[in-house]
Amino acid sequence: MQRKLDLRTGIPVWNAYRAPRVTTQRLARDVKCDVLVVGLGISGAMIAEALTAQGLSVIGVDRRGIMLGSTPATTALVQFEIDQPLSELGRQIGQADATLAWRRSRLAVTNLHGRIRELGIRCDMTTAPSLYLAGDTLDPAALRREAEARAGIGIRATYLTPMVLKETFGIERKGAILSQDNLALDPRKLTAGLLKKALERKARFYAPVEVIALAPESGGVGVETRGGPAIAARHVVLATGYELLDMVPSDTHSIISTYAIATKPQKGKLWPGAALIWEASDPYLYLRATADGRVICGGEDENFANEQSRDSLLADKARALSGKLKALFPRLDADAEFAWTGSFGTTTTGLPYIGELPGLPGIFAAQGYGGNGITYSQIASELIATAIAGKDDDDASLFAFDRTSMMRRLTDLAGKFVG
Ligand SMILES: Cc1cc2nc3c(=O)[nH]c(=O)nc-3n(C[C@H](O)[C@H](O)[C@H](O)COP(=O)(O)OP(=O)(O)OC[C@H]3O[C@@H](n4cnc5c(N)ncnc54)[C@H](O)[C@@H]3O)c2cc1C
Repeated sequence: MQRKLDLRTGIPVWNAYRAPRVTTQRLARDVKCDVLVVGLGISGAMIAEALTAQGLSVIGVDRRGIMLGSTPATTALVQFEIDQPLSELGRQIGQADATLAWRRSRLAVTNLHGRIRELGIRCDMTTAPSLYLAGDTLDPAALRREAEARAGIGIRATYLTPMVLKETFGIERKGAILSQDNLALDPRKLTAGLLKKALERKARFYAPVEVIALAPESGGVGVETRGGPAIAARHVVLATGYELLDMVPSDTHSIISTYAIATKPQKGKLWPGAALIWEASDPYLYLRATADGRVICGGEDENFANEQSRDSLLADKARALSGKLKALFPRLDADAEFAWTGSFGTTTTGLPYIGELPGLPGIFAAQGYGGNGITYSQIASELIATAIAGKDDDDASLFAFDRTSMMRRLTDLAGKFVG
C-alpha cells in the first residue's frame, strides 16, 4: 500500500525548454541487480548516478515514467539555507545537531556544483547570491542574530540594513541576510543529465513499473511489481518523493500545497546579481531568475493536501503572486506566462529522513523534503552511496529514520550515568 498523490497541476516553466530524452524499457521478465532505485525524479537520478559511479549494477523503475513526479514542478532554487533558520533549528534539535545540519547543507550545494561541472551536465546552472528578507517570522533584530549565529559556525552571512538593501538591490524592506554561492538551474535538464550518465554506465531504466511490495530475504530484497515480473536486488532505495510506501515511517511528515508563476524573459529588468530572494514570513514569497531572464516567483502555501481545493485556487494564487512580485519590483513585467501548483512535503523540523529503514535491512529511503528538496537529494545520494559501499558517514545519524537529537542522546546518556 502507498500514499498516492496527484502531484501537480498547471504548466511549469520548464516546459519552455527542451531536456534530453532518456530512454526506458518495458519490464518483460524477472531481473536482478545490485541496487534497485524506485522513483526516477531528481532524487532517484542523483542516487543512480552515484551508485553507478561506484561500479554497481543499477536498475531504476518509476510507476509514471521519467521526471513525471514533483521534479518538473520545482522552482529549483538550490540553497544551503535550509527552511528552519539556524537559531530556530537549534531550539528544536539542539545547537550541536543544528550546526551539523547547516554545515552539511552548505557542503552539499558546493558538492552538487562540483558534481555538475565534473560530469559536464548542461543544465543552465548559475551560481547566485541569496537574500533572506526580514518579515513576520524574523524581524530585523532576529535576522541580525541569525546572521551572527551563522557566522559563528563558519557560514558566511552578511546582515544588510534597509539603506544598504535599497541602495544595492533596490528592495524596500527592513533588513536582509546576504549569502553567496547558491545555485539556480533547470531541474529537468539536470535530472536527465544524471540519468544519462547512469545509462552510460549500464544502468537499466524500466517504466511504467510500480513497486507494490518489498521483502528482505537472504542476500538481498525481493521486489514485487504490479502485474509484472519480479526484481531481485541486493539493496533497494526508495526515492518516491512525497508518495510514501507504507513501510516508510511518516508520522513526522505532512503534505501541503504550494504555487508558482513565471514571467516572460526580461533580462534587462532583473535586480542586481539575479539573487535568489526569499522572505522570513508566513506565508512567504520567493523568487529567482532563469538563465534567459524569466522571473519565477512562488509561495502562497496552503496547509491542505486536497488536490481539488489546491487546483481550484490556482488562478487566484497566480494573481496574488504576480501582485506581490510587482509590489517588490515595480519595474518588472509581473504577468504570469506559466502558473502551476503542486503538493509539497514538510517535516516537523524541516530536515529530511535518509537512510536504511529500521528493521528492514537492505532497504533505504530518502524522504521528507521541504523547500530544500534538491539540496537534500544531493545529501541523500552521498549518504546512501556511502552506506551501500559499507562505509560510515559522520552525519548519517542526523538524518536517520530512528534519529534522536544530540540533546536527547546526551540526556539519555546522563540519565543512565546518574541512574
Ligand atoms: C511548486 C514547487 C516548488 C518547489 N521548489 C523547490 C525549490 O525551489 N528548491 C528545492 O530544492 N525544492 C523545491 N521543491 C521540492 C522539490 O520539487 C522536490 O524535493 C523534488 O522534486 C523531489 O524529487 P524526488 O525525485 O524525490 O520526487 P519525484 O520527482 O516526485 O519522484 C518520485 C518518483 O517516484 C515514483 N514513484 C512513487 N511511488 C512509486 C512506486 N511505488 N513504484 C515506482 N515508482 C514510484 C513517482 O512516479 C515519481 O516519479 C518544490 C516543489 C514544488 C511542488
